[in-house]
Amino acid sequence: MPLDSTVLARFLDDYRGELVRPGDEGFARARQEAVWNADVTRQPALIARPASAAEVAAALVGARSAGLDLTVRGGGHSIPGSSVAEDAVMIDLSRLAGVHVDPATRRATVGGGAAWAAVDAATAAHGLAVVGGTVSHTGVAGLTLGGGMGWLTHRQGLTCDNLVQATVVTAEGRVVRASEEEHPDLFWGLRGAGANFGVVTEFVFALHETDPMATLGMFFWAAEDAREPLRAVREYLGGLPTHLGALVAGMSIPAAPFLPAEHHGRPAFGAMVAGWDGPAGHAAAIAPLRDLHPTVEFVTPIPYTALQQMLDASSPWGVHAYEKGLDLEDLPDGAIDVLIDWLPRKTAPDSFIPVLPLGGRFAEVPDDATAFGGSRSCRWSMSFVAQAADAGTLAADREWVRGAWQALRPFTGSDRAYVNFLGEPDDARVRATYGEEKYRRLAALKAEWDPENVFRHNANIPPAPR
Ligand code: FAD
Repeated sequence: MPLDSTVLARFLDDYRGELVRPGDEGFARARQEAVWNADVTRQPALIARPASAAEVAAALVGARSAGLDLTVRGGGHSIPGSSVAEDAVMIDLSRLAGVHVDPATRRATVGGGAAWAAVDAATAAHGLAVVGGTVSHTGVAGLTLGGGMGWLTHRQGLTCDNLVQATVVTAEGRVVRASEEEHPDLFWGLRGAGANFGVVTEFVFALHETDPMATLGMFFWAAEDAREPLRAVREYLGGLPTHLGALVAGMSIPAAPFLPAEHHGRPAFGAMVAGWDGPAGHAAAIAPLRDLHPTVEFVTPIPYTALQQMLDASSPWGVHAYEKGLDLEDLPDGAIDVLIDWLPRKTAPDSFIPVLPLGGRFAEVPDDATAFGGSRSCRWSMSFVAQAADAGTLAADREWVRGAWQALRPFTGSDRAYVNFLGEPDDARVRATYGEEKYRRLAALKAEWDPENVFRHNANIPPAPR
């Protein structure tokens, strides 16, 4: 709906930065490029593209004084499309995407609208890295503020465990810094429930020495033959040394030139193990997986930046997507049977079941050290993800996701999931995810920093009544 001219004028009293309005030549493109999930069709009233924290504050104050709803867009990757709401002002941070690495202090300063590809390239140039997501066009902001898991989680913990400082525009339009020293309560909340408290315009991360060249082993077992191998993979990953990173996925074998053509498209379970201690060390580490007679295997040296981009094409921008995640403390045989039973029932080739094994440094961080929603005793974070080229195919796989999720649910003690995999972050699941104690602490923090729930297009924690 076009904006009333007095409302627009009130917004423009405060905000003078770059703005794209419906009717402008670039509006359709700016909207399309802002949100990864094509199944999200909501249209914003305005797209503001601030280039500084001061401009973010002006957009926020302008939207509030004009009585407009607002959303914050980091990388635009959240599957529910939380960065866009109908008739709201989208504060699109894509112009705040700078990355600066200081190798001496091992710190990276990253803009609130950056994507992981830029961080990985800038840090790898110095033989450094901070754990990021496994798809490099994902936004740094939303991923970090919800937790952040990837190939380096075993070595480094969550991305938010490596956050040392954030610059935040508050609901009132103030610019504050949060760290262990400044506003430590806010800093705690940002690390796991961060989309609730303000607009983070800049992150500072601790970096770790990471050989820019890794070795990767990929092993696939056809779904019908996967029962015994998956049980063995579970035991193997349970004892995975901290220096290795791993992912498991139920998927269609990709049509990659290095995988035999006769297996392309076959439903299979893949275990992928990355290591940084050279080919010989890696070969020894993956020997137990080779012994499980995979249908297909492939081992290769790979630059860390390429490892980070390896899965980009299987989750392309503009795909139609839906997901439902859940956390498991362990992976009983019955849960493996559910995965095997449900994988071949999907329709779209790119629909898949990521299963992230959690351990190592992740498990060493005390539960209450951050607001991360999910217990540090959780060992398996998984999701059923539908990804289709069109809305019709998505409809079929949306039902697949729901059916598979319901079938696996009896194996979890609760409806808890990694907050960035919730899919539909309704109140009951957000509460289950954080647990009563953290949820209460977060609601009190919300009442302090955002008492009017300005930041509500997220896994929302309404402010506690005062
Ligand atoms: P956005 O949609 O822009 O934002 C998500 C939420 O954060 C919204 O509520 C938004 O308002 C808020 N927000 C965004 N930027 C800011 C900011 N600067 N300040 C305050 N609030 C902000 N997660 C993992 O941990 N590991 C993975 O490997 C991984 N892989 C993924 C692969 C794909 C293909 C997809 C779609 C998602 C993946 N995720 C992964 C989940 C990912 O962490 C979430 O989708 C996350 O929300 C993406 O952040 P974003 O900034 O791109 O999204």
